[in-house]
Amino acid sequence: MTAITESSEVQALLDKASGLDAAGGDQRTKQIVRKILADLFETIDRFDVSEDEFWHALNFLAAGAPEFGLWAPGLGVERFLDIRADEKARAAGEAQGTPRTIEGPLYVGGAPLVESGSRIDDGSDVGEVLVMHGQVRDLAGRPVAGAVVDVWHANTKGNYSYFDKTQSDYNMRRRIKAGDDGRYEFRSIVPSGYAVPPGGSTDQLLQAVGRHGKRPAHIHFFVSAPGHKHLTTQINIDGDPYLRDDFAYATREELIPPVARRTEPDAIHARGLNAPFSEIEFDFTLAPAAKQADEALSTRPRALVA
Ligand code: FE
Repeated sequence: MTAITESSEVQALLDKASGLDAAGGDQRTKQIVRKILADLFETIDRFDVSEDEFWHALNFLAAGAPEFGLWAPGLGVERFLDIRADEKARAAGEAQGTPRTIEGPLYVGGAPLVESGSRIDDGSDVGEVLVMHGQVRDLAGRPVAGAVVDVWHANTKGNYSYFDKTQSDYNMRRRIKAGDDGRYEFRSIVPSGYAVPPGGSTDQLLQAVGRHGKRPAHIHFFVSAPGHKHLTTQINIDGDPYLRDDFAYATREELIPPVARRTEPDAIHARGLNAPFSEIEFDFTLAPAAKQADEALSTRPRALVA
């Protein structure tokens, strides 16, 4: 603490402002509000933040709020939540399956539930065909029956359906029913990486600290099955120039499967295609759910097609 912030006057102000001296309200909320305020007061004092700087910063926060969903990954907060979740699981002695990594703000709920082997793109993007398949297994390596692989990814322009209204609803978004043998497969196109919206509040903030706002190409997944812990993860497309320079810090070494480029005429024809395609094999390992709540997706607010 600085001399001013540790003064009895400022300490009393923090207690009052966070309601700690009042009867009503929620105790935990009061403590959290007090800590955030105390850290803010100290930051202002330590860096001698001017009145102009403070009010412009407040305005920047207010105007930038629609992009807070991008600030969270961009400022490493979403990665930090994963680090904490991993550490808590480790401390509790829980075995881990496929590593988790951030969800990001671009999931849309309620995607069609389809059979394994389905095509999930609407054909409007002429990117290279991607066939991805694998098996959902438990920690002992046994296939998990009844698993659902909920997949979403961007197109070759780095845009996601729903948020990009030029695409059909749920383009490149599906919930895939794995077979009783845990096997899943889908056909789509190889996605591209993307960047935060140019000129938006995230972009302005990152530029102010000398950072870029780019993500390497990736595919998001929720993998769930009865009796198993819900998994939120992604795989990266190997070879992307930003593979290990992700502005959202979501890349994990275990989540970079090899991409096989299939150019053999037999393989192309067997898929009913007429051009080389990419193939990724990736198995998901689910940990057992310690309690029923662990099976479910978090209650984070998410978009839903109207
Ligand atoms: Fe993404």
